[in-house]
Amino acid sequence: MNARKKVAFYTLGCKLNFSETSTIARDFKDEGFDRVDFSEEADIYVINTCSVTENADKRFKTIVKQAQKTNPEAFVAAVGCYAQLKPQELADVNGVDLVLGATEKFKITDYINDLSKNDFGEVHSCEIEDADFYVGSYSIGDRTRAFLKVQDGCDYKCTYCTIPLARGISRSDTLENVLKNAKEISERNIKEIVLTGVNIGDYGKGEFGNKKHEHTFYELVKALDNVEGIERLRISSIEPNLLKNETIDFVSKSKTFVPHFHIPLQSGSNTILKLMRRRYMKELYVDRVNKIKKVMPHACIGVDAIVGFPGETDGHFLETYNFLNELDISYLHVFTYSERDNTVAAEMDNVVPKNVRTKRSKMLRGLSVKKRRAFYESQLNSDRTVLFESENKEGYIHGFTENYVKVKTPWNPELVNTLHNIKLTKIDDDGMVRFEFINELVE
Ligand code: SF4
Repeated sequence: MNARKKVAFYTLGCKLNFSETSTIARDFKDEGFDRVDFSEEADIYVINTCSVTENADKRFKTIVKQAQKTNPEAFVAAVGCYAQLKPQELADVNGVDLVLGATEKFKITDYINDLSKNDFGEVHSCEIEDADFYVGSYSIGDRTRAFLKVQDGCDYKCTYCTIPLARGISRSDTLENVLKNAKEISERNIKEIVLTGVNIGDYGKGEFGNKKHEHTFYELVKALDNVEGIERLRISSIEPNLLKNETIDFVSKSKTFVPHFHIPLQSGSNTILKLMRRRYMKELYVDRVNKIKKVMPHACIGVDAIVGFPGETDGHFLETYNFLNELDISYLHVFTYSERDNTVAAEMDNVVPKNVRTKRSKMLRGLSVKKRRAFYESQLNSDRTVLFESENKEGYIHGFTENYVKVKTPWNPELVNTLHNIKLTKIDDDGMVRFEFINELVE
């Protein structure tokens, strides 16, 4: 009897990539493969790439080397955003057998025959215009939380971004299918679902293959709130111009949607926002934050910011710093601008020297630590609900409250994937929060 073939996956980048790796993994399972960890010996290694990752090429080469070291005979395939943008670059990496672009990645099992290694990397890429169909996905990353894809691609034209070139036009899953996937997830004892996509606020566009919005993001949120068995729903990242009052008001009253928003700002200077071709000015951003805090004073608000965009003077940067310093936000994700081929920004003048970019990034990261601490302090003595995660981290178990405060307590396997009511008591030296249980299990 033939032994079952083994497949291993490595995912780089965002939650969307993680959800898509899961879909590809299920296809392999249907073809009779067993999934193993990437550090184990496999017959095929699949690397789901990202174009946002710093030094994406270096990172990719290291991962291929790791796979080859574990099993030099194994077949190596690359899929994902970087594989769409730079297929030949990936195919030329020693040991790579197959590179699949945006339309082909979900057909990977059709390309796998006898798994014997190729003399050179075979490329099957596509024109990004052809990536106009939707493939639904969800991933079960650990035992506590699932990433549910609701939308893909982007019709915006931010001047620094390659995602529209890597993922194509904005398109959405049907409402019916999203609800079906959410139900399936809840039946697997997963307590939290995180909605994912490239531009989830654009949900509904391309739902049935046309450019119209069939449903709005607000309608999606309302429909998901009614799915039985889901304990927590988290809206991940949403563009400020697409986060409407009705959604914020609904979340403030919802039992399942948690008070946590991640809203990309990118710059606190209107001059830079215009150069980036973002679809809002900083005044709208302030308005969104104020609206959230008015109806949910305990809400956690995360912010994406890019430093060192071409044309960003010291003055523009300080404007961003001061803007964020004064705003009632909870933490920052800081990205240091780096040029991407085939983007408008890569051709712009007034390039910011790399050392200045690094310095600005450090300053904003410092601000993020301060903001998070202030947010955590504001939450001390409040009663929250925590969902415990599944890993033992140096003798502790971690968890997140509904408003994204990270808590810890000594490891106890019985807590894994359970929800508890707690009172936040103290911030530890490592920045995590201690608590007291205030009653028995929530459910
Ligand atoms: S909204 Fe802008 S930054 Fe975000 S994926 Fe679309 S083009 Fe890129």
